[in-house]
Amino acid sequence: MNLELTEEQAAVRQLAKDFVDREVAPHATEWDRAEQVDRSLVKTMGDLGFLGLTIPEEYGGSGGDHFAYALVTEELGRGDSSVRGIVSVSLGLVGKSIAAWGSEEQKQEWLPRLTSGEAIGCFGLTEPGTGSDAGNLTTRAVRDGDAGDWVINGTKMFITNGTWADVVLLFARTGAEPGHKGVSAFLVPTDTPGLSRREIHGKLGLRGQATAELVLEDVRVPASAMIAPEGKGFSVAMSALAKGRMSVAAGCVGIAQAALDAAVGYATERDQFGKTIAHHQLVQELLSDISLDVDAARLLTWRVADLIDRGEPFVTEASKAKLFASEAAVRCANNALQVFGGYGYIDEYPVGKLVRDARVMTLYEGTSQIQKLLIGRALTGVSAF
Ligand code: FAD
Repeated sequence: MNLELTEEQAAVRQLAKDFVDREVAPHATEWDRAEQVDRSLVKTMGDLGFLGLTIPEEYGGSGGDHFAYALVTEELGRGDSSVRGIVSVSLGLVGKSIAAWGSEEQKQEWLPRLTSGEAIGCFGLTEPGTGSDAGNLTTRAVRDGDAGDWVINGTKMFITNGTWADVVLLFARTGAEPGHKGVSAFLVPTDTPGLSRREIHGKLGLRGQATAELVLEDVRVPASAMIAPEGKGFSVAMSALAKGRMSVAAGCVGIAQAALDAAVGYATERDQFGKTIAHHQLVQELLSDISLDVDAARLLTWRVADLIDRGEPFVTEASKAKLFASEAAVRCANNALQVFGGYGYIDEYPVGKLVRDARVMTLYEGTSQIQKLLIGRALTGVSAF
């Protein structure tokens, strides 16, 4: 793996860094308090090409490779995880799935709008009763009428971008087979009659992000709304999540880097016992621990990006990167808060938000326990599921 960035990768990283320093980080606390990030950012990120990374230019994409995508998601995660999540879901889980699995018609219909930021996508897999065990989902789609329409009923839970999205990549059971075999995927416009959305408030972190419950009551879509062959929906979901784990890992590197920057800044300014706290060796230990986690998480993440770009197997490496980086982000944010002492506990300073935002990273897109089981299965060939 070459650790030297290409000119194009370095340029897109700088673009993202400048954008985050100018338009994201200064507002993150205010958006967290208001429980809503500035929606105009989506269009700005579309104009900057962030929402079209890895998508072919003929569909409005900005090209670029997964390494560039990891660099951008790290920068966004450094500024505000709520903003990073919008991109990871709308582009990473939805746009990329359409590019990989969609018909020509579906690509033409959705990709130019998603990559420009004119439309937002959300990913509807989790249900109130099925999270880790997503293959047992109960939302059902039934064929109806001569044209082969599908009528969908069910509830989706914890859906990122849920109330903002124009389209949901929705997973529903179409076959009689139990488990993941009977699952198909659909592209459902969120203004389809029968689809209602309820925003979930009171989240510990990611407060600027619109997380919602989606309820589908007799939602009718044409046969052309199905993406990928019937019964292949779970493959769509798993391939999206495998690559998605790289962008969650990159976002976690961003959180860890933000924790390091804040902790070093504070440690070299705050005086106790007649000198800055950076002089105290136990504070240096905290900083050293954060720094090591940042480097290790970044290297694991870059390895996944490099494997994807070279067309090599990457799924287990993505689980390792996501597992390590998410646990590291929690440790780093917590260690940074320790460096800040009591001031870390109030939201005038950024580290409390980092702790809250980091915490969900070990839960979504496969919990830490699920990542361990996936890694164990790859090592032994024995599935614990
Ligand atoms: P459960 O699956 O009930 O797990 C509870 C606990 O049991 C966990 O600790 C888990 O690790 C453990 N556990 C479960 N099974 C096993 C096992 N076999 N072995 C060992 N331990 C096990 N979902 C979407 O579809 N789209 C989204 O956009 C989305 N965004 C989200 C945003 C937020 C803020 C949150 C909180 C969640 C989001 N999710 C989304 C859902 C998320 O992916 C699930 O919460 C996650 O998969 C875990 O499912 P669960 O919450 O039902 O927990």
